[in-house]
Amino acid sequence: MVEVQTSSSPAPSDVAHVSILGATGSVGVNTLDVIERHEAKFSVTALTANNNIDLLFDQCLKFHPEVAVVANEDLVDQFSAKFNGSSYKPDIHSGNQGLELAASLSEVDFVMAAIVGAAGLPATLAAARAGKRTLLANKEALVMSGSLLINAARSHAAELLPIDSEHNAVFQCLSGSNECDVERIILTASGGPFLKLPLDEFAAVTPEQAVAHPNWEMGKKISVDSATMMNKGLEIIEACMLFEKNADEIEVVIHPQSIIHSLVAYVDGSLIAHLAYPDMRVPIAHALAWPQRIQSGIGTIDLAKLGPLEFHAPDRNRFPCLQLAYQALEAGGSAAIILNAANEVAVASFLHSEIRFTEIPQVIDQALQHIAHENVLELETILAKDQETRTYTRAYIEQSVRPS
Ligand code: NAD
Ligand code: MG
Repeated sequence: MVEVQTSSSPAPSDVAHVSILGATGSVGVNTLDVIERHEAKFSVTALTANNNIDLLFDQCLKFHPEVAVVANEDLVDQFSAKFNGSSYKPDIHSGNQGLELAASLSEVDFVMAAIVGAAGLPATLAAARAGKRTLLANKEALVMSGSLLINAARSHAAELLPIDSEHNAVFQCLSGSNECDVERIILTASGGPFLKLPLDEFAAVTPEQAVAHPNWEMGKKISVDSATMMNKGLEIIEACMLFEKNADEIEVVIHPQSIIHSLVAYVDGSLIAHLAYPDMRVPIAHALAWPQRIQSGIGTIDLAKLGPLEFHAPDRNRFPCLQLAYQALEAGGSAAIILNAANEVAVASFLHSEIRFTEIPQVIDQALQHIAHENVLELETILAKDQETRTYTRAYIEQSVRPS
């Protein structure tokens, strides 16, 4: 595991200063909910958002951060004007520079990286380079970064702690173990809303149906990813990188109840599992308090009231995105950047009703086949490959897929 002890973490009795990138999203809101329960332990130093300036303003009035960032530069003046007549006003910044500033402020101890998609990579990297405890929800940043983010965390003694519920569960299940005793990691997957949908009905799936996840309340992009199972594909890559495993050491099992969040199999035949109600406040509280524990607001599971727990192997025909993620892993180089960027474009097009649900994997496959997979190692070249893929994928959708 890549987490590294650092002398910059506050002592358990000190107040930890937290910056939340993507404060207005589902993970951001849940993070503030946990922090609010522990005012003596955490103080909010910076909050960032892209478009939702109304919620960002409300969050500022409640948590009084020193810095607020509106990534969308067109909305900064409007946001700033909201503080007219108020005795409190944060330092307001915008754009990528603002996000990177919020991630690396000297007084900040912990950075919650909860921006969705590739847009979060530069600021997440800035947090790692500044040696912050980086709470990683933004899985796309890790997937596309190759070894860049992991190496930055290592060389700057930044703790990289997983927030994704599966990876946080694995992190907990690995605690106290020897690396050589681990046989494999088992990631659970709910299977999303279409686990049992007849295959001939997939083409007619609407965005509203796709974002209605049976167990989790999440942002739209990750909800669609869960419906296609690209989310699990990204998580396999994320697990390989975080836990330094090969693809064949990561198993995926469908577990529709989302009670077991993942497991670690040991050589002696033991399986260690992490169980919790499906609520992101559990992994968020874990990572904020690690290596201690704090209340998350969620009680432990009442086992006697729990119904049966089911497990079965995923059907890669039903979920071609899972297969595409394995292909990208095997191809190596920039294939994961292409996979991720093509998926982001395809999902956005699907949410705008420009392509069908079943065309999401077709679009990604096209990008993986037609864009060169070089080895890219620097932020600039990673972002250039991301951009190249977006341009290609948008043009492909426009010319070949979009219904007239
Ligand atoms: P969301 O859509 O609810 O929120 C996204 C946040 O990112 C918002 O604050 C938004 O303002 C900000 N943002 C969006 N585009 C931006 C841009 N271009 N520049 C700067 N900021 C931008 O997303 P979410 O569901 O909270 O997910 C956030 C991340 O956490 C994703 O990477 C997701 O995969 C991961 N994650 C989420 C959950 C969950 O339960 N929601 C679980 C596991 C992992
Ligand atoms: Mg997850």
